[in-house]
Amino acid sequence: MKQSMTLIPTLREVPADAEIKSHQLLLRAGFMRQNSSGVYSFMPLGKKVLQKVEAIVREEMDNAGAVELLMPALQQAEFWQESGRWYTYGPELMRLKDRNNREFALGATHEEVVTSLVRDEVKSYKRLPLTVYQIQTKFRDEQRPRFGLLRGREFIMKDAYSFHANQESLDAVYENLYKAYSNVFSRCGLDFRAVIADSGAMGGKDTHEFMVLSEIGEDTIAYSDTSDYAANIEMAPVTVKYEKSSEELGSLEKVHTPGQKSIDDVASFLKTDASNLIKSLLFKVDEKYVLVLVRGDHEVNDIKVKNFYNAEIVELVDPNETKEVLGCAVGSLGPINIASYVEVIADLAVESMVNGISGANEEDYHYVNVNPDRDFNVANYIDLRFIQEGDPSPDGNGHIKFAKGIEVGHVFKLGTKYSEAMNATFLDENGRSQPMIMGCYGIGVSRTLAAVAEQFNDEKGLVWPTNLAPYQVHLIPVNMKDESQAELAEKLYGELKKQGMDVLMDDRHERAGVKFADSDLIGLPVRVTVGKKASDGIVEVKIRKTGEVLEMETVELVQKLKELLG
Ligand code: ATP
Ligand code: MG
Repeated sequence: MKQSMTLIPTLREVPADAEIKSHQLLLRAGFMRQNSSGVYSFMPLGKKVLQKVEAIVREEMDNAGAVELLMPALQQAEFWQESGRWYTYGPELMRLKDRNNREFALGATHEEVVTSLVRDEVKSYKRLPLTVYQIQTKFRDEQRPRFGLLRGREFIMKDAYSFHANQESLDAVYENLYKAYSNVFSRCGLDFRAVIADSGAMGGKDTHEFMVLSEIGEDTIAYSDTSDYAANIEMAPVTVKYEKSSEELGSLEKVHTPGQKSIDDVASFLKTDASNLIKSLLFKVDEKYVLVLVRGDHEVNDIKVKNFYNAEIVELVDPNETKEVLGCAVGSLGPINIASYVEVIADLAVESMVNGISGANEEDYHYVNVNPDRDFNVANYIDLRFIQEGDPSPDGNGHIKFAKGIEVGHVFKLGTKYSEAMNATFLDENGRSQPMIMGCYGIGVSRTLAAVAEQFNDEKGLVWPTNLAPYQVHLIPVNMKDESQAELAEKLYGELKKQGMDVLMDDRHERAGVKFADSDLIGLPVRVTVGKKASDGIVEVKIRKTGEVLEMETVELVQKLKELLG
């Protein structure tokens, strides 16, 4: 491709609202442009990389026995109503009406569509298992679209769905696709980890997320410093064995704590440690009020609350409503003498607290010498807090450390959530009707592209791995007005293309400095410069990643490039 014929609008300045490297560089190097918040055009270079990522995904999915199809992005509301998600998915689902006032959604994901499709076409165990996938544009009205392609409102996903007659079959396909995913992200050169995850609204049990390790990741991974245990922080169980001190129980006493609201304020005011405080948070769990207690130095993990109640929705109650229920807004909440319709659950650490401190449900007052079970009732003691660095690793090996990750892929065992809700059944060997068992598997294709850009760059620009680079070779005649340079470049361009190489030739009438800066910014693996020595048949080869420069005669060029590009 000649640069005069394509569109690579590079920028010198860093675009104002692009906070992270990949977003800045993909814009600056002309790989993409923003249309509206979270919505982007892939420019020719971006589209080429996207195709390369897609090709890797396709190859690995096909190898794993999945078959590609393409489902509509425009989805009738009825499917979503059947599964119930029309009512629970929330504002992330983009909804619209057609001219006849029928409701539709733009596909955020395709469980509903694929389940309806397979239920109509597959009736017998003989057609199972079946794994289908597609690479398609998805729509999610994200609350905070940011970091460019990492969190878009319109983005490209590979989504796969598997259907099974029994659990073993699902387990086997899950494992295959887990391997396929590992292959995809390895082939993209990414530094990643598969971590145990929460199935959230999807309603599954077994699930893993593929996380690219990166400072700018929005997810926190809890991993063991000695074993290969790794989990999404929400999912890591806390296995600390708490010891109860033998201190004598003091008598409950209400104390004045004027203006002391936060845990730290109260602790320092009462000259004690946060770990002697009981932190109380009022949640609405579906329709029920639940007061959740954790130790003052711990944080409530609402996913654990949600999973304990098997609830659809867990929300912190706002201050006004809290005041109505407990008699006090946040700052002095506590479990003592509260209405019987509020259920109290507590983290395991609270069970072993002796002579603790809690809010008195009265502004500016706390109780001291608070003792669980003596002073208030607890419906259940369970693990409710976030794991912390230094806690023992849940697999029994080593201690927990944290890292940040970008979720690029997700594999779930869905079970029968959708097949039951949508009546996707098959006849088993005995002629009995059974709901199909399902799995689903997503890769953020455009997010993966951004994750690669985030990992592979330097101060001059992008540094593409050879297999994902939009072109392999950047051929640069320094001065297009110099006939011998222009001629030699043209000749090499033809030759390299004939050798099957993907070449981008900068045939623009620009200054050398501009061409080189753009070339570094775009980041193709190898640059071939045709300069002053063109008339002697000598060119310069520069490796983008190392900066290494080699001078050679054009007769050696093809061989050398083949070596360099593998
Ligand atoms: P996140 O927690 O980042 O919002 P998710 O759990 O909502 O992700 P899934 O529903 O599992 O994501 O979607 C499958 C894959 O699609 C994710 O692993 C991710 O790589 C990608 N993805 C999800 N949301 C976006 C988005 N807004 N922009 C780009 N890619 C996304
Ligand atoms: Mg999401």
